[in-house]
Amino acid sequence: MLVDKLPQGTVLIVDDDAVVVQALGRMLEGLGQIRFALNGEQALRLVREAPPDIILLDAEMPGTHGYEVCRALKQDPELSDIPIIFITGHNDDDNELRGLDAGAVDFIGKPPKPALVQARVRAHMQLKLATDALRRSANTDPLTGLANRRAFEHGLEREWDRARRTGAPISLLMLDIDHFKQFNDALGHPEGDRCLVRIAQMIQQLAKRPADQVARIGGEEFVVLLPETDQDGAQHVAQSIVEGVARLGIDHPSSPVAPVATVSIGATTMVRIPTGGRGTNEEPQGPDPAVLIHDADQALYRAKQAGRNRIVVSSLPSPSTT
Ligand code: GH3
Ligand code: MG
Ligand code: MG
Ligand code: MG
Repeated sequence: MLVDKLPQGTVLIVDDDAVVVQALGRMLEGLGQIRFALNGEQALRLVREAPPDIILLDAEMPGTHGYEVCRALKQDPELSDIPIIFITGHNDDDNELRGLDAGAVDFIGKPPKPALVQARVRAHMQLKLATDALRRSANTDPLTGLANRRAFEHGLEREWDRARRTGAPISLLMLDIDHFKQFNDALGHPEGDRCLVRIAQMIQQLAKRPADQVARIGGEEFVVLLPETDQDGAQHVAQSIVEGVARLGIDHPSSPVAPVATVSIGATTMVRIPTGGRGTNEEPQGPDPAVLIHDADQALYRAKQAGRNRIVVSSLPSPSTT
């Protein structure tokens, strides 16, 4: 067997019978990191704390039984991709259907047979890890390693909904490198790419909070999404980025602004998302996140007009949008 070809991930084994848990744990040795839970509540807590790559789930447990655990995980968009294999003592069609209906990918009958358990877990684990890798690459900008536009739009939707629920402010910085066409013209495209990477790293370093999201959304354009951040906070981060980029001291001999590469930033804060009442189906009405992008874009334009290498701050809702 090609041991080094074994997929490595995390397996969560859930069964109220400690003997079964131990037996399954032994069968899966070498397949990845193994964790255990002895009931449904514990399983849900563990999965939410640190999502595993695959779950072996006992169908029959006292308290929260397996089908309920499965259904709860499938309803959570952050956790619904984790493959769940049911372990059941009832190997009949009704039980299989019930499990598949709840969102399981496969079944293992009790008592579990080592070869079968290993083969099933290995196959589903391989698929899960490959899917994760694909998703990561679909959301990543290959040059800088930052999130790309698609990932940013997704993250913005999520944070926008959260801010609407919590009433917290949300800020967005829109960044654009100054006179970058002239940089490329003077120093060449490969040097331009290196400049992009260094500026990307600096932005990432200065967006410090875990919830902050940095993305490259175009050629030499970046965004920083700052959840739960007011205008003062946004201004602070924006100013530190303008200064941090200039401090990198990347030669930009043809720039009329400075001898080094600089950025301009438009910063917008949505102080509180207006809900604008409720529609017929209780869906909150109100602006969508495009208003934030549009406003930051306009602020960026003003920063360029005002001479570049600077920030312009704005905030919403402005009198015209309320
Ligand atoms: P401004 O200060 O007004 O932003 O001027 P600018 O020259 O930066 O603006 P413009 O939008 O006219 O030009 C952007 C340039 O960015 C065009 C292109 O030369 C460069 N660029 C875009 N994507 C890449 C990239 O992936 N690599 C490199 N090296 N250059 C890029
Ligand atoms: Mg049981
Ligand atoms: Mg541009
Ligand atoms: Mg530019």
